[in-house]
Amino acid sequence: MNPPIEAPRIVIVGGGVAGLELATVLGRRCRRQARRRVGTPTVTLVDHDAAHVWKPMLHTIAAGTSDVSQQQTTYLAQAREAGFAFRPGELGELDRSAREVRLRALYAPDGRLAVPEQIIAYDTLVLAVGSKANDFGTPGVLQHCLMIDSRVQAEAFNREVRLRMLQCLTQGADLSIAIVGGGATGVELAASLVQLTVSAAAYGARGLTDRLSITLVEAGPRLLPAFPEDISAAVQTQLEALGVQVRIATPVTAVQADGLVLGAGNLIAASLMVWAAGVKAPDFLANLDGLETNRNNQLVVKPTLATTQDANIYALGDCSSLKLPGAERPLPPTAQVAHQQAQHLIRYLPQVVEQGKPMPDFAYHDFGSLVSLADYDAFGSLGNFGLFKGVTLHGRLAHFSQVMLYRSHQARLHGFWRGSLLWLVDRINTHVRPSIRLD
Ligand SMILES: Cc1cc2nc3c(=O)[nH]c(=O)nc-3n(C[C@H](O)[C@H](O)[C@H](O)COP(=O)(O)OP(=O)(O)OC[C@H]3O[C@@H](n4cnc5c(N)ncnc54)[C@H](O)[C@@H]3O)c2cc1C
Repeated sequence: MNPPIEAPRIVIVGGGVAGLELATVLGRRCRRQARRRVGTPTVTLVDHDAAHVWKPMLHTIAAGTSDVSQQQTTYLAQAREAGFAFRPGELGELDRSAREVRLRALYAPDGRLAVPEQIIAYDTLVLAVGSKANDFGTPGVLQHCLMIDSRVQAEAFNREVRLRMLQCLTQGADLSIAIVGGGATGVELAASLVQLTVSAAAYGARGLTDRLSITLVEAGPRLLPAFPEDISAAVQTQLEALGVQVRIATPVTAVQADGLVLGAGNLIAASLMVWAAGVKAPDFLANLDGLETNRNNQLVVKPTLATTQDANIYALGDCSSLKLPGAERPLPPTAQVAHQQAQHLIRYLPQVVEQGKPMPDFAYHDFGSLVSLADYDAFGSLGNFGLFKGVTLHGRLAHFSQVMLYRSHQARLHGFWRGSLLWLVDRINTHVRPSIRLD
């Protein structure tokens, strides 16, 4: 009798833009194949959160202009729908010789053990654990600033901002919000907070706009350094017109309870501070069983997306650093890069795992970048690929393009019809539900 055919085990850690798209499409494919033949790969997704949110919309969850309960995809439901296994857990250690990932225990907010430590064996491992803001070692950031790098953090910020707004209204306290970092996250959060205050005033929060101030602080000479200069200038003008105080060329050297300390010892007074500057990968990657990382903890990968030290371990999205041949810099940490890298593995990983074929090199197509100023405006530059390279977008077209990025991600997760229904439900909700969180 022939020995049973072992099914190759694909383990994906991180169910974000890259990881969840990959797990969903591979899961569906493997489930279809498994009906016809034995030895089809199994797909397991690991994440330390229970639900996925399209990260580029976290600022709207932080501001409360989107409701997280309507926008999240729970991993267990997605696993059942798409045919992969979901294991809740936090990657902490890796044993490459045994081909095992070690997951730390997960605890409930009150400290009770929720999921004990686990060990999961793999044949192919895909790391897609994303990134977080980089405090660059600035003193006081971790103690005094909130961040909005995850669903949990964005919700925590929103709870805080709702409480502070209530105190503003009922106790006459002023609320001064300072956002550090004039990249897309900081700019988009500032505009969403303006929209929040204007909407809150429409729900009867009179006097709030006079009591609340928003300051956006950027160390570099202009906002949105990754965008063309004309977009940076237009965004600054628009934000100032909305009442946001923009401080460029203003490095923050420390943070204390009552505000941001500047180089010359001056202080930007603030009662609520958000750190949205810089990007780095999670710290644990720097000590992951000898895998090569750069100074931002990103795993250095080859053009095949395999890590430089281990051909069975791939890294995608923000947690990876890929410098393509001939390029001056590594690819930026954007949803566009994460999505295209996931598509590359969706296309080629099955034949690598099942037939032992070599993984082809990844090719990146830069379709440009978009930034939205809540419902007020949007800007985009069309990148270096295709007919419209270098063209800039503005207004409704840019806003629509931004919306389409999210809706196409939803369609990839849920299929065209379910994705379209979710979009329709969101449209209906804009007419039947409050435009901001009021609970
Ligand atoms: C507010 C904001 C606005 C943005 N706007 C844009 C935009 O307009 N356009 C754009 O292209 N990009 C934008 N970005 C960047 C974009 O969101 C990221 O580049 C993209 O999400 C990266 O995808 P990823 O799959 O690498 O990581 P993520 O989407 O961040 O997913 C990482 C996943 O890994 C999980 N994870 C982390 N650590 C562990 C661990 N130890 N164990 C288990 N699981 C773990 C997390 O829970 C998460 O689910 C924005 C980012 C932010 C924060």
